[in-house]
Amino acid sequence: MKDCRRIGLFGGTFDPVHIGHLRSALEVAELLELDELRLLPSARPPHRETPQVSAAQRLAMVELAVQGVEPLRVDDRELRRDKPSYTIDTLESLRGELGEQVPLYLLVGWDAFCGLPTWHRWEELLEHCHIVVLQRPDADSEAPEALRDLLAARSVADPAALSGAGGQIAFVWQTPLAVSATQIRAVLAQGRSVRFLVPDAVLNYIEAHGLYRASN
Ligand code: ATP
Repeated sequence: MKDCRRIGLFGGTFDPVHIGHLRSALEVAELLELDELRLLPSARPPHRETPQVSAAQRLAMVELAVQGVEPLRVDDRELRRDKPSYTIDTLESLRGELGEQVPLYLLVGWDAFCGLPTWHRWEELLEHCHIVVLQRPDADSEAPEALRDLLAARSVADPAALSGAGGQIAFVWQTPLAVSATQIRAVLAQGRSVRFLVPDAVLNYIEAHGLYRASN
């Protein structure tokens, strides 16, 4: 049987994962009727890791966060490499595993999308996936010059109309929850609670391991 699961990809450092990530991922998964939405924690150079919080712990928190939440999954391939991955490498690795037929949807925020021309081998990305741009309703949405032709050629007005295994761009308008990992780390460093900003299982893990506390 041909594998035609529709798979979304949502990368991030997830330091730690929070309800902003999860809510956004779930909304996109529902909108695009995805069979899987994979959260891909990214490797960081050692000097950019949060002190005392390892890649394995970031991964463990994402795993706890998606447990029992359909269709969210975790894909740890970027952490299995010993250095940060380019998105194109991740896509090639996924294609090697999943074949060419499976529709892949790469989620990127508007700001990241505007920087696309600086990504390694960026012009090949659409050979492997669709790009779903997460746009805030209030964002300034003038695309940079370098992306105008690409958008004219590849964008579709309705995300539900993305067809085939890849090659197209669509926009999804979402109002993100006002939560960031930076804020969560700061709150924890002050010894305050992040309950309701992260799933309970993540909260319990943070507390059990004493993560993000101010070192003293
Ligand atoms: P930090 O504050 O450490 O920069 P972050 O909360 O922005 O972290 P990342 O792991 O850097 O989280 O983000 C992964 C992805 O999630 C990015 O595409 C980012 O735009 C998106 N994202 C971050 N916060 C939210 C949010 N509140 N709602 C929806 N998406 C978010």
